[in-house]
Amino acid sequence: MFFLYNINMLSSFAEASDQAPPKTVLNVEDNEENRRLVRRLLQFQGYNVLEAESAKQAMELLVSCIPDLILLDINMPDEDGYSLTVKLKMNPSLNKVPIVAITANALKGDRERTFQAGCDGYIEKPIDIEAFLDTMNRFIG
Ligand code: MN
Repeated sequence: MFFLYNINMLSSFAEASDQAPPKTVLNVEDNEENRRLVRRLLQFQGYNVLEAESAKQAMELLVSCIPDLILLDINMPDEDGYSLTVKLKMNPSLNKVPIVAITANALKGDRERTFQAGCDGYIEKPIDIEAFLDTMNRFIG
């Protein structure tokens, strides 16, 4: 199942500062705790949040919805984030959507591997909140 969270709480802020409609971020992550943390951070910043618990769910969701950015866990049980990234980047309707890998694979080679697969950005677990928000801001403001 998919989850869409709207930020009614922050709508008055968005109106007051005369901003464009909120950007939508798809978070693909199999771990519930990690999803919750990322959801809170994204909602706090005023983004709409879509979630998928697996690569399969993400592919199903992306048939009908094109988010502004995809956050992608690399270690997932059904299919890893490298393989999913290659698929998404080959899809003409999705290949412009920035993909930011989130991974606990802190070895030096893993960072390069995410970029080789086609990811546009990289965030390490455990998530540093400031670095996370900077990265989001850099890609979608
Ligand atoms: Mn995982």
